[in-house]
Amino acid sequence: MAMYCSAYGCTNEHDKGKNIRFHGFPFNRPPIIALWLAAIRRVEWKPSKYSKLCSAHFVESDYQNRPNSLLKILRDDAVPSIFNIPEHLQKKSFSRKNLKRLAEDDRSGSSMSSESKVVDSRRCAEKQSNYVDTEVSPVKFDSPEKHILQQECRKYVHIKYCALIVDAISIRKQIIWDDSQGKFQGYCDLGGIPTVNSEDAASEALMFPIVAYKNNFKCPTAYFLTNKTNATLQAQLIDCCIRKLFEIGITVHSITCDGTAVLSSGVAIALDYLRVSGSADFQGSDATIEFIRKLDRIFDILNARNPFGKGFKAPIKPNSIEYFKEVFKETTEYLKTLTVDNVPVFHSLRKTFALGLSVAMDSMLHLACYLFQLEDLNLRYFLSYKCSQDHLELFFS
Ligand SMILES: [Zn+2]
Repeated sequence: MAMYCSAYGCTNEHDKGKNIRFHGFPFNRPPIIALWLAAIRRVEWKPSKYSKLCSAHFVESDYQNRPNSLLKILRDDAVPSIFNIPEHLQKKSFSRKNLKRLAEDDRSGSSMSSESKVVDSRRCAEKQSNYVDTEVSPVKFDSPEKHILQQECRKYVHIKYCALIVDAISIRKQIIWDDSQGKFQGYCDLGGIPTVNSEDAASEALMFPIVAYKNNFKCPTAYFLTNKTNATLQAQLIDCCIRKLFEIGITVHSITCDGTAVLSSGVAIALDYLRVSGSADFQGSDATIEFIRKLDRIFDILNARNPFGKGFKAPIKPNSIEYFKEVFKETTEYLKTLTVDNVPVFHSLRKTFALGLSVAMDSMLHLACYLFQLEDLNLRYFLSYKCSQDHLELFFS
């Protein structure tokens, strides 16, 4: 079958004699395919499962390092960067932020200075250039969008109370020339916070979307280009976002960073099955199974997304707070009985997960209690999923 390249103006065809390879679109990696599409910049075009892009659009470092193999395979995070894009399209897309795409710098990257200075958090608000301004239509704090958001929360009470989600999205490390602004793009940029070396290429975008606790409302508010952040820096950026949102009438009542549930009841069932069926490797896994079951309940509670959910997947309601409090208490007591090398888990080196979980359970109940007593919000049930990190991932897919 003839294979053609989907890139604008590229006439490469599949030909055995030529050393051109064709790569299918990474449909199973939504964030990456989004970057491909942004790089290709074809207007109103969607790839099919037969669409291909030829190797002329990739650089050497986009391929996996396989010294003994002739077959070149793209890295999972490879994004095409070499294109001949017509002038009129270039202008338009270059004016968009450089979150996505183009040209290659070093992948190795230099690390930022680990020492962060204490800075006045107001400074990060002064410069607005790095508040998201891409096709994802987020809010620039000091832009018309800010006023739209301000008006919206005057109109709709539920927008006034939001969860702030913080997560880093990996971006490709690269420095590109931005014709429209007459400067190179792709460096770390924290909008004026002088804690990172702004000569380093950014490797991730730290995103700050908000999600309303009631009804359906979510909106990205800011991003910062960084490579590796530390806790101090993250705290500053979070602080800055909360203040800026507060100025326009949105109060942030919870912050979610990095949440993952690895253990599920499915794993417990599988382990149990293997144990019962006599598999030698799984004898003595009772404790593990109990552990997973207990934790899985908590993950269900902390991730309730359906207003009509039942059991542990039910939303928290004013009249079920006591019940959840009991479950949480029991789980915390259970966690206290766990030991790592005979040291109670809360005092061991592995305490982070146990502490984190206890704090999360506690915070979630307090948050729910607090929200229930807000008269203007008039919340009848609380879906803990609102504080989930999934929102950001869904947004980018
Ligand atoms: Zn091509």
